Amino acid sequence: MTDKNYPLNKPDWLKIKVPKEYNNIKNTESIINYYRVNTICKAANCPNIINCFSHGVATFLILGNLCTRHCKFCNVKHGFPNKPDDDEPNRLAKAVHQMKLKHVVLTSVNRDDLYDGGASHFAKCIDTIKKYNSKTNIEILVPDFRNCVKIALDLFKESLPDIFSHNIESVPRLYSFIKPGFNYINSLKLLRLFKIRYPNIPTKSSIIVGLGETLEEIINTMYDLYNNGVSLLTIGQYLQPTNKHISVKRFFSKKEFSFLKKEALIIGFSYVASGPLIRSSYKADLQLCNISID
Ligand code: SF4
Repeated sequence: MTDKNYPLNKPDWLKIKVPKEYNNIKNTESIINYYRVNTICKAANCPNIINCFSHGVATFLILGNLCTRHCKFCNVKHGFPNKPDDDEPNRLAKAVHQMKLKHVVLTSVNRDDLYDGGASHFAKCIDTIKKYNSKTNIEILVPDFRNCVKIALDLFKESLPDIFSHNIESVPRLYSFIKPGFNYINSLKLLRLFKIRYPNIPTKSSIIVGLGETLEEIINTMYDLYNNGVSLLTIGQYLQPTNKHISVKRFFSKKEFSFLKKEALIIGFSYVASGPLIRSSYKADLQLCNISID
């Protein structure tokens, strides 16, 4: 039976403006295609893709484009992934070089099929990018390394990123429904253990709103993140990628995003970006420089 209340009509503030540098999109795409690298921008059907590609920016998706989990909000395909591509770090480093990226975000699908959840491949990508692009900052947005957190954290010892990020995405009440296979407490634990082990590396997380959570639940989640060592936070509106995905339960107003930002800063986060189209990798270079993007 279909729910007559959904889908909701998109409010005006979610309409995307086409930027002036529209032609640069082709250049960004040709580099991505030439080096055969995946991006989460395309895989997740990100609403900012025109904006980011036109500025020559993309977030790379490593370890293939098939995920071993089934989050209800995510557009990434599911299935049995191939073994990691040994040449991927090399192609990625060359793509970063050609795109002249001063800050790069790497993320991956979940790789529950691998003994280390893909951590050694992340480490190889970090090392190879640094080798060819010594001045580029590297931010990694990792999965939860279910059942292999210790192995993963050990593997990062010699290959540390400039920012370590893991997205909590939602509040604990909704986890089993929208993120089956994930555990809220384990995600917090990963962030805490990384911070304890590598205290000089800033940790970051992201919340998407509009999936049925209350403002109070979001604020409690912000406290949980802060109390587990997270200092950088982004908050954005969930947008249903296709009609097969979970529907948007509510569009938050700009005023509510501002309210959440204010609350997060009161809690103590050193940087917060909160707005309808904010994503954790959106203008990540500016986030690192503490420049407002919302
Ligand atoms: S916000 Fe991130 S994922 Fe979205 S298009 Fe920009 S770089 Fe890609």
